[in-house]
Amino acid sequence: MLRVLMVEDSADDAELILHELRRDDYALQAERVDTAEAMRRALDGQAWDIVISDYAMPRFSGLDALRIVQEKGLDIPFIIVTGAIGEDMAVAAIKAGAQDYLMKDRMSRLVTAVKHALDEAEARRAHRRTEERVHYLAYFDPLTDLPNLAQLQERLVQAYADAQRDRQGFALLMLNINRFREVNEALGHDNGDMFLQQVARRLQSQLHHSDMAARVGADEFALLLYPCGREDALARGRAILAAFEQPLDVAGFPIELSLRLGIALAPDHGDSTGQLLQHADVALSLARRDGAPLSLYDPLRDPSSPKRLLLIGDLRAAIGNNQIVLHFQPKVRLRDGTVCGVEALARWEHPELGHVPPDEFIPLAEKSGLIHPLTLSVLETAVQKARIWHERGWRVPVAVNLSMRNMLDPALVRKVETLLIGHAMEADMLEFEITESELMEDPLRALGILGELSDLGIRLYIDDFGTGYSSLAYLQKLPVTAVKIDKSFVLDMISNADSATIVRSTIDLAHTLGLKVVAEGVENRETLERLTGFGCDEAQGYFIGRQMHEEKIARWLKTRH
Ligand code: C2E
Ligand code: CA
Ligand code: CA
Repeated sequence: MLRVLMVEDSADDAELILHELRRDDYALQAERVDTAEAMRRALDGQAWDIVISDYAMPRFSGLDALRIVQEKGLDIPFIIVTGAIGEDMAVAAIKAGAQDYLMKDRMSRLVTAVKHALDEAEARRAHRRTEERVHYLAYFDPLTDLPNLAQLQERLVQAYADAQRDRQGFALLMLNINRFREVNEALGHDNGDMFLQQVARRLQSQLHHSDMAARVGADEFALLLYPCGREDALARGRAILAAFEQPLDVAGFPIELSLRLGIALAPDHGDSTGQLLQHADVALSLARRDGAPLSLYDPLRDPSSPKRLLLIGDLRAAIGNNQIVLHFQPKVRLRDGTVCGVEALARWEHPELGHVPPDEFIPLAEKSGLIHPLTLSVLETAVQKARIWHERGWRVPVAVNLSMRNMLDPALVRKVETLLIGHAMEADMLEFEITESELMEDPLRALGILGELSDLGIRLYIDDFGTGYSSLAYLQKLPVTAVKIDKSFVLDMISNADSATIVRSTIDLAHTLGLKVVAEGVENRETLERLTGFGCDEAQGYFIGRQMHEEKIARWLKTRH
């Protein structure tokens, strides 16, 4: 079936054209128009295989008809048939985009011209299909039909331009399927593919108008959220995680999955596409490291971030210039409420950044080796303060936190000894705390130094107990005096029966093994009373006293003596 649109004012001429075409056994569907409006209506109404048009008509012209076809973005072969055509008219028609032209008195050539034009059109279409396929493969992931990394990158470039114009921020989320390899092996290849397609579909259902989801690795997806600020990004990240709590349907089977998300914000976390992608990846690995479902990029935790490198330089200077100061938090004996010591907590006031929390600068110090001079400076100040209080008649032992790195320093014990002698302090005025999880990384290595410190007469505490999965029976083999139950259990022991049970049984078992128990994170009277009932030995926390700077703790200690 050949669908012919004729632009022709004369019904006779139109009939002549159809007559020619019929001679070649074409089954025809034809319509004749002779005005621009009728032409547009005909083009809108249905698809046409070819347009055969008169050159000059009273109310219309061939070139105008051609322009209408082109304006509509249609690629329909266009042949001009005319009574009198000059060479220059013909050239003008071909230049304007007509495929062919012929004279009315040589109609026998029409069939050949039509065939030729149709062949050419088909070749053009085939070419376009190939181009589209190439374009598709260059910009889409064929498995999930989602945009691929290349398209995401182009969209990111656009997003940066839009963001600058609109004064908006946007977010890039990197999303990873936990244990995809196992899922894939368990499901088999085809179902594994279906699984990924379902993931893609569910991701797409979470998108807003100008967002984009892309597949950027075997089990990695990226989401561009535009526009999007920090709180919004976190909220949307959590919503996406929540959306995946429902199992996926893979070939009729419900398949559970868990995801991890890393978030980088533009322009805060990167002023180029490459940087933003890299930082979203870093955020993802931070989440993995924390065992968290979601994490925001943090330049201070990014090993290759210039900000972090600068901060290491600042930290080195801060230690040298005594910019790391100590705050002290009291500990009381529950039996009689007397003060039994203080914990020294390091504080860094950065001249430009302000307060940098120890949870940020201690890991930085550990990775850069600065933990050794840092600990030494903390120790020095701690012993010095204990000496001053001692002279005022207050026996207040000071607890210093040690990193595992410190335990690997063969000179540590000698340095501590020298310090105590230098300040004429007895060893039992110094205590050390080391976190359970760090200790369990290499307990044998720590054993030697712990033994030597304990031999000096220094009391050792296992900090954050309950988070490191070690057994008390094992810890008892180490020369430690006490465990500090991690504040995460103490903080909610009134409202959470599980926490209360953990606290209580830790106290009982520790006592059986001859260890003392300290509870940290005591924030209210009920907790304090409950702990006393459980037979806990010592307590520390905001309810008893916050960490205080030097003069403030001195005033506090004075009221207690
Ligand atoms: P940590 O040793 O477990 O110290 C206790 C943390 O709990 C302190 O946070 C303290 O401010 C906080 N805290 C105390 N009472 C309460 C309470 O009632 N409720 C709550 N919610 N929190 C309470 P901070 O000072 O931010 O210290 C964080 C961590 O940094 C410390 O945890 C310790 O592991 C590390 N750190 C601090 N100073 C040093 C140091 O000189 N050397 C080493 N290696 N680590 C240090
Ligand atoms: Ca501690
Ligand atoms: Ca602790």
